[in-house]
Amino acid sequence: MRYSGLRLLTQAFAGNTGWKPAWRDTAPKSSYDVVIVGGGGHGLATAYYLAREHGITNVAVLERGRIGLGNTGRNTTIIRSNYLLPENHNFYEWSLKLWEGLEQDLNYNAMVSQRGVLNLFHSDAARHAAARRGNAMRLDGIDAELLDRAQVAEFCPLIDLDNARFPVMGGLLQRRGGTARHDAVAWGFARAADRRGVDIIQECEVQGIETEGGRVTALRTSRGRIRAGRVGLAVAGSTSLLAGMAGFEVPIESHVLQAFVSEAVKPLVHAVITFGAGHFYISQSDKGGLVFGGGLDGWNSYAQRGNLPAVEHVFAAGVAMMPALSRLRALRSWGGMMDMTPDGSPIIGLTPIQGLTMTGGWCYGGFKATPGSGWCHAWTIAKGEPHPLNAAFTLDRFRQGRLLDERGAGPFAWAQ
Ligand SMILES: Cc1cc2nc3c(=O)[nH]c(=O)nc-3n(C[C@H](O)[C@H](O)[C@H](O)COP(=O)(O)OP(=O)(O)OC[C@H]3O[C@@H](n4cnc5c(N)ncnc54)[C@H](O)[C@@H]3O)c2cc1C
Repeated sequence: MRYSGLRLLTQAFAGNTGWKPAWRDTAPKSSYDVVIVGGGGHGLATAYYLAREHGITNVAVLERGRIGLGNTGRNTTIIRSNYLLPENHNFYEWSLKLWEGLEQDLNYNAMVSQRGVLNLFHSDAARHAAARRGNAMRLDGIDAELLDRAQVAEFCPLIDLDNARFPVMGGLLQRRGGTARHDAVAWGFARAADRRGVDIIQECEVQGIETEGGRVTALRTSRGRIRAGRVGLAVAGSTSLLAGMAGFEVPIESHVLQAFVSEAVKPLVHAVITFGAGHFYISQSDKGGLVFGGGLDGWNSYAQRGNLPAVEHVFAAGVAMMPALSRLRALRSWGGMMDMTPDGSPIIGLTPIQGLTMTGGWCYGGFKATPGSGWCHAWTIAKGEPHPLNAAFTLDRFRQGRLLDERGAGPFAWAQ
């Protein structure tokens, strides 16, 4: 069933009785050409692009819970491509271009909103770093603008430019950045993949990975054994557990990252604003709630709930940047399980096991990567080698010392 304005109208007159389930609820078959483990955005996007770009449709996505209930449905929905290193900004720019056509492509309203992302800076050194990053982006044809104090004040009057400790000196703006509706992204990819024949299998936990002669052959799951020609892992904070099942190690730690939503208010924050000095980011949802977050909880965990010290840190940083926030009440908070690499950049590519590929190590920033990661991962599965866009994101780089350390700060964004 295609979605359209006309369809909405006819369904409205028919009492909304004709809608069909967005994807089939399938039972697993005994064998597939490709099995993707993890029904978050990255796994579903991989399956979709395998079918759309490479004609590989005998594919299953196995999800231990319900799709999109991992980090995909828990993030602050920021999309952007404002990175310094060419390996990073070229990949994220490709992802942003996919976002720009995604809703037409999937025939699904993912509420992509290019409202702009403004990164504030608070010192001469940070201005220099922002100018360098913006110039690096512009050299590769990516939009970036350096704003001075007056332009920041005009762009977002709510910001306290004269904070006693971290006065604002300006900001780096990417107007094409913005937000998208996170769970609609999972549902849109699931529906579009299902329409091309992919089986989406929920409540199916992978409990073991079988190999023979160094090649992956099958998965042991809570719903039986499934043979697979190739397997792709897209399990975010569970990557180290799944790699362990296949017999190799990944340099990925799992940490909790929390997010918050305030009570709904009239339009107040029109773009995504980030506070460089305190590590805080904020945007406003279409329902009116302010959506915001900050840094990681400081210790390793597989939990999906947060702790109070991070809450206090985030609120203090938010009020320092926008004192008016102190008048609002926070309604909800939640946590997700982040997959942190030592250099803060992802891994998309081959593993030591033949036929087994992975996309993971997304740290804070994997939501914006969802289409790009799925596209590159699908390419890598189909061709048996990485695309130039993900050629640098190897697992091997940590052994070879070829790190992609965006700010010389590894996974600690605040330590630049
Ligand atoms: C609070 C918070 C804020 C964030 N903000 C942003 C942001 O603003 N912008 C941005 O770009 N990124 C952001 N991120 C990061 C982003 O959400 C993630 O990097 C991205 O969503 C990861 O998607 P995924 O598909 O890899 O993971 P997930 O959505 O977590 O999907 C992985 C899936 O694998 C499944 N799984 C795990 N083990 C198994 C198993 N054994 N068998 C079967 N299935 C299994 C899980 O159930 C899960 O559904 C944020 C994250 C959090 C938590």
